[in-house]
Amino acid sequence: MMSAAYALIDQAALQHNLVIVRRHAPDANIMAVIKANAYGHGMLRMARILAVAVDSLAVARTDEAIALREQGVTTPITVLQGFMGRDELMCYAKYQLTAVVHQHEQIRQLLAGSSPEKIAVWLKMDSGMSRLGFLPTEWNAVCTLLQNSTQVQQPFGVMTHLASADEVDCHQSRQQLQRFDTLTCQHIGAKSIANSAAILACPAAVTDWIRPGLMLYGVSPFPDKSAADLGLKPVMTLKSRLISVKTVPQGETVGYGGSWRCQQATRVGIVSIGYGDGYPRYARNGTPVLINGKVVPLIGRVSMDMLAVDLSTLPEAKIGDTATLWGEGLPVETIAQYAETIPYTVLCGITPRVEIIER
Ligand SMILES: *Cc1c(COP(=O)(O)O)cnc(C)c1O
Repeated sequence: MMSAAYALIDQAALQHNLVIVRRHAPDANIMAVIKANAYGHGMLRMARILAVAVDSLAVARTDEAIALREQGVTTPITVLQGFMGRDELMCYAKYQLTAVVHQHEQIRQLLAGSSPEKIAVWLKMDSGMSRLGFLPTEWNAVCTLLQNSTQVQQPFGVMTHLASADEVDCHQSRQQLQRFDTLTCQHIGAKSIANSAAILACPAAVTDWIRPGLMLYGVSPFPDKSAADLGLKPVMTLKSRLISVKTVPQGETVGYGGSWRCQQATRVGIVSIGYGDGYPRYARNGTPVLINGKVVPLIGRVSMDMLAVDLSTLPEAKIGDTATLWGEGLPVETIAQYAETIPYTVLCGITPRVEIIER
């Protein structure tokens, strides 16, 4: 039996988006970012599809990488937060993982190691985001430590992350790029800077390795540019169905808290999907929902398992009809806007109750 709420995964769209990635960075190696369950798309599924097409995968945490290895994924995997502690470090040799090294404790553990196998490393600079990485003032000293280490595969890579790559002609990005370049221009190992926004809008950030996440899934990282503008196609289409259609009398309210009132007798449809599936609870009245491909407005508060739509403009709608919540024909970026958030959080919010179906 198929689950009421399901996400269709369009492999052809993913392949298409990879072509767009390559078009922006024809000479770069691709590290496909599949952290957080591949932004809701299913980490293992995305890993298997991408494994043959990219140079490496990237996840945030060691346990995500180990899960992939234990499921038989043999593609190189970079762990963006690296290891925490000696025990985790041991896994990097065992499972052939690449570590991002961003703080002194990691360096100490790495250098104190006595593993016969050298660890592959990206050394990370904090060029201005103040999240992970070594400050420019400590960079040269740290670099020297790693260069002299027999525990590290040489030459190791160097990387940084931009805080505002989604802003056009951004002073902060220019400053970060300049800091990074000044300290790494002599480095002989690989360099990596760009996430999706930088790949699309900041050619100076496109170096040996790029790290696309969101754009692979066919979603725009920019508030003012749609995926279609960028030539991207949505990989996930989230669907459910109408489980009730009825006329609610004038003056009655719809949903918890009675926040939406029928100005006249209204055909109200109930769709079997809610925040328990990851549909954002804060989606406003008027958020578009497609019923049989036609737009109708969400009304009232989103419940855990259901949401309501106004079917006034769609008198032929009936129980069992298909509802599309986002994806093909309805960008997840639009839903994010109506919910006053960003598409990243909407996609990551997909819960295990949603059945994921490849096509
Ligand atoms: C998540 C992440 C990415 C991918 O970012 P997108 O905006 O999804 O392309 C790249 N690099 C690092 C360090 C990340 O944490």
